[in-house]
Amino acid sequence: MIAKLSRWLILILILAVPILSVQAQDSGDRATYLVQAGDSLWSIAQRFRVSVTELAAVNNLENPNQLMVGMELTIPAVEGYSGRLTSLPIAYGENLDWVSRKYRIAPELLIRLNHIITPNELYAGTSLVLPEGQMASAASCFLLPEQLSPLELSILAQANPWQIASQNQLTQTLQLLPGEPYLGLEEVQTATLSDLTCPLMEVTFSPQRLLQGKTAVIRLKGKAGMNLQASFFDRTLPLVEESAGDYVLLVGVHAMAVPGLYPFEVQLVSPENRRALLSQMVSVGKVDYPYDNPLTVDPETIDPAVTEPENELWASYAQAFTPQKYWQGAFVFPSPLSKDYCLTSGDCWSSRFGNRRSYNGGTYDYFHSGLDIVGKEGVEIYAPADGVVVFAGPLTVRGNATMIDHGWGVYSGYYHQKEIYVQAGERVQAGQLIGLVGSTGRSQGPHLHFEIWVNGVQVDPLDWLSQTFP
Ligand SMILES: [Zn+2]
Repeated sequence: MIAKLSRWLILILILAVPILSVQAQDSGDRATYLVQAGDSLWSIAQRFRVSVTELAAVNNLENPNQLMVGMELTIPAVEGYSGRLTSLPIAYGENLDWVSRKYRIAPELLIRLNHIITPNELYAGTSLVLPEGQMASAASCFLLPEQLSPLELSILAQANPWQIASQNQLTQTLQLLPGEPYLGLEEVQTATLSDLTCPLMEVTFSPQRLLQGKTAVIRLKGKAGMNLQASFFDRTLPLVEESAGDYVLLVGVHAMAVPGLYPFEVQLVSPENRRALLSQMVSVGKVDYPYDNPLTVDPETIDPAVTEPENELWASYAQAFTPQKYWQGAFVFPSPLSKDYCLTSGDCWSSRFGNRRSYNGGTYDYFHSGLDIVGKEGVEIYAPADGVVVFAGPLTVRGNATMIDHGWGVYSGYYHQKEIYVQAGERVQAGQLIGLVGSTGRSQGPHLHFEIWVNGVQVDPLDWLSQTFP
């Protein structure tokens, strides 16, 4: 009888302990925020998802200059919550469920504090409001293998299913979905279950925000030997394991991608064949590419019957993913012009990447897919990096064209050449002479159209000439 009672008592304690108790900290019966150095009324309003006017009114701040470091501001519209609030940016790889588990805050409270309507609002980089002093849990993070239910997990780990549920801010034991991250208990860290350690802790995007026409490097740290496939912009891309447990992916963002939120997903398959899914919204920002003056060209040169099959053929060469990486360091300049001079002066281009274009009075549906490097007929063209030629030959629009595969989904292309000195299948090295500048195909004078493809999309080649990827 006593044993039975104490068992109940333990269960009640287990259930009671992880429930978050939000303490008011000398701030009375209201939600507050302590002004920090660098804050402005505008930035605070942004972070707490309230309007500047409302924030100023509630705090009797007639003049924004009245804001002082250390001042305790009332944060309006957080009903029924009292205590100090703070905010932190959502990292790549994190979502509402994960933040809730990591900081042990009930999802309902997070939803209320952040005025969240849909979970997709919490994309990487947005700020998340949470109670001040809420420390990230030190417990290990695991992904629930797709083949296991939470109940099966509990049985395998010989743990109480409620214990796992309460530690993960779940109101029901079956709320955890396969592939979702959960905080593991010491008892759960058995050899059979810990093979999918949570990769959500370390996902990095560089640059931090994706931009139209730019190359992004996505890195993921996790267990060695996993098979990772990313789904992004309707493409499926493999991640390469650069060194044990370090995975990398290069992503090209389309120059005409509509700014906004896009789903980013990574499928994980562990060496033990357990599967999990990482899913998050990420934002793509606008780049102010210039609008070229409307162009008038021979209608035949923009006739889809002519251009489409060639575009498709050309793009098809840039779609394949070669697991081997041929290039090392920054790309060398594909022309005898001085790279330093060209990059600093900008004098060497007759047209840059991304310029919006309109043909024969049509809408601005076109963009310039490469960098036009000035040059007289017969000027030498060099391979910018090691690779394998995948196409070399004459085309209607592109003229004499060459495409080189540099591995990992990266390709470079050359249009309008007078002469081509390489052929498909040939290995080339950085700095090797591959052709001569000309004006073949749809061209209004001798120049080299130089382009870079990253995983099926043309990106700004200047980035590849001025910095080292990944
Ligand atoms: Zn061009």
